[in-house]
Amino acid sequence: MEFKFFLPTRVFFGNDAVNNDTEYLKQLGKSCLLVTGRSSSKKNGSLNDITFVLKTNDISYEIYDEVEENPSFETVEAIGKKARESGIDFLIGIGGGSAMDSAKAGAILATNDMDAAELWTKNLVNKPLPVCAVPTTSGTGSEVTQYSVLTNREKKSKRGFANEQIFPVVSYLDPRYTLTMNDFITINTGIDALSHAVEGYLSKRASPLTDEIALRAIGLIRDHLPMVLRSPNSLEERSQMMYASMLAGIVIAHTGTIVLHGMGYPLTTYLGIPHGRANGMLMCGVLEMIRPSRKEKVAKIAECFGKENGDLSGLEAFIKELNIDTTEYRKEATKDMLEEFADFASRTSNIRNTPGTITKEEIRKVYLREFT
Ligand code: NAP
Ligand code: FE
Repeated sequence: MEFKFFLPTRVFFGNDAVNNDTEYLKQLGKSCLLVTGRSSSKKNGSLNDITFVLKTNDISYEIYDEVEENPSFETVEAIGKKARESGIDFLIGIGGGSAMDSAKAGAILATNDMDAAELWTKNLVNKPLPVCAVPTTSGTGSEVTQYSVLTNREKKSKRGFANEQIFPVVSYLDPRYTLTMNDFITINTGIDALSHAVEGYLSKRASPLTDEIALRAIGLIRDHLPMVLRSPNSLEERSQMMYASMLAGIVIAHTGTIVLHGMGYPLTTYLGIPHGRANGMLMCGVLEMIRPSRKEKVAKIAECFGKENGDLSGLEAFIKELNIDTTEYRKEATKDMLEEFADFASRTSNIRNTPGTITKEEIRKVYLREFT
């Protein structure tokens, strides 16, 4: 057995987590930039909790509250500029993956003379500012990863980059903040977490340790995502989902995501399908595509959803029951578009983590299976 494991993030999980453990937050500096979306953090209590803690600890702050879903190059450049001009010591990303990823990219752009496109191509000259993460969705696991996923609106291209220096230094996971998610967001984000666990389990970079964590996350999501939809006000159910999402994040921090994430991105940029939902639509097709090189693991995933001999109908039914279907998007997806998607997905870096040799033709077939 051989594996490597590295997770530099200090995690505090629980109700009132931010208030209970301020020691490490204080060590990050005397001034910060809060990076968040337009409204959710004001409604779910997270922004209020953080600003209270900052005030009581004499840490000054400014707020950038214009992060959009699937954050753009322009947004992270604006955050970097604001952070640099105000001379703050650290950033706090409060919200879903979009806010946390924007804080991470902004942390690099604040200290390095580069534009967003260069986040993929240039080596960093200076250390990024430290980032603290406060997730308010249970999906991306960005609070424990070194990834930031950004959208180039001009090129209609969505990609993630990785840099160990943007692992959040401290993350506060308070499940109370997720109580305000409606069913649509709960499902989209929950399926993203499932996708991370499934993809991490199948990744070429998977290890015995990440496999254990991935299977645990899959089991938790299988049990608790339907429950949280039945009882959206149950803090216990929300906690289980937040825990599962964090576990799946720990997995992909080590394994990366595979072709499924690469295939989901164009569905978001061209058709506006939310990230997790896009992955959910393609999940079973991708598992069939990968089956020849990971037969036992695909069978294990099928078994998690109650079926033997690699029968994926249990997983398919699980996803269907979450009301993830393509009907409303099918009309918009032309054949030419699917061709473009296949071309994009076959060139993403996620392909490197995907077992077997996946061809563009196979990818095209998975899209066609879902969209025709
Ligand atoms: P999101 O794009 O951050 O937010 C989606 C929507 O949910 C927004 O309208 C947001 O409102 C709202 N929202 C957030 N928290 C809420 C709450 N507690 N109650 C009610 N509404 C809430 O969604 P996400 O799925 O968490 O993040 C998706 C992004 O993360 C994508 O760009 C994806 O590619 C990326 N991602 C990153 C990683 C990683 O490792 N870094 C992994 C997977 C995916 P506001 O705008 O008002 O805040
Ligand atoms: Fe994701």
